[in-house]
Amino acid sequence: MSIHSSKVVIIGSGFVGASIAYAALIRGLCNNLVLIDIDREKAEGEAMDLSHGLPFIRPVEIRAGGFEACEGAEIIIITAGANQKPGETRLDLVQKNAKIMQSILDEVVKYERNAILIIVSNPVDVLTAFARKVTDLPPEHIIGSGTVLDTARFRYTLSQRCGINASNIHAYVVGEHGDSEVLLFSSASIAGSSLDSFRENCAGVSEKDWREQVAAEVRRAAYEIISRKGATYYGIGLSCAQIMQAILRDEQKVLTVSSLLDDQYHDLGVALSVPSILGKNGIVRRLDLRMDTLEDELFQKSVQILRESLQRPMGNP
Ligand code: NAD
Repeated sequence: MSIHSSKVVIIGSGFVGASIAYAALIRGLCNNLVLIDIDREKAEGEAMDLSHGLPFIRPVEIRAGGFEACEGAEIIIITAGANQKPGETRLDLVQKNAKIMQSILDEVVKYERNAILIIVSNPVDVLTAFARKVTDLPPEHIIGSGTVLDTARFRYTLSQRCGINASNIHAYVVGEHGDSEVLLFSSASIAGSSLDSFRENCAGVSEKDWREQVAAEVRRAAYEIISRKGATYYGIGLSCAQIMQAILRDEQKVLTVSSLLDDQYHDLGVALSVPSILGKNGIVRRLDLRMDTLEDELFQKSVQILRESLQRPMGNP
């Protein structure tokens, strides 16, 4: 597939915004990158630092800017907002970050209405639904990074436990990007075989206990990192670069991004992640979920938790 030249804007130049920029630059995904932050000097500092790597990467213009720089962008990524503190859940961030999201969206739509929005700030599913509610942008253009990172953590954890390269593992995490996320073991496969034949070193551990251990490890991953280094950012940086690449190169790639499920097949009224095909126009299609009874129950719980979060007051509307 040909390399597509394009403009990308990242709003929020903190740990996550800078890591997404770094991952995107190394992959050569765009030829024009603008960093926006309420702290202009921080955005300028990151742009300068990243620019010093230019001799080693594809040519790209990197700069800090104001919201007017959104004009002409193909992708606008929003990472602005508070991050989780130790002990905080993602859903705890909703009040603070919905207000920030509202103020950012008000500015973005003044300058650009055709870009694809990738929302990363947490709680990402609630903020993705919020962005759909407060803007009239095309639904397929409003995408949350969702469980793309959790799916990567699931595949990594399975790769460690089964002794197989993570890129050969097909396994998805759906639902909330958060504590109620659902790991789909029943449809997971390695080279067409079920996981069972690869469960090494687990003599005496039942399949149920093994699954619970893996699920706990994946769900706890962010808490474990935050308790040690205060924030998570490299994994989400690479996850977002993958989402950007799928869009900018029109890859028709399946990723577990979050979107408001309100179409005729998925009328749930909340935004959450299901495997979705991504291309140059954003979400091309969402795939049907194959789940066993337990996974389906957990998925319904995840939907309910997100519904309750959406019913609480947020920002302006
Ligand atoms: P950070 O504090 O390092 O960066 C946030 C940045 O946003 C800061 O530079 C701040 O100045 C800026 N900002 C705040 N209000 C703004 C506004 N109105 N306009 C422009 N910029 C503004 O935090 P971080 O670690 O980069 O995390 C950012 C967000 O990403 C958090 O909500 C975090 O929970 C989320 N996150 C999401 C995932 C995911 O998988 N979706 C993973 C990790 C982190």
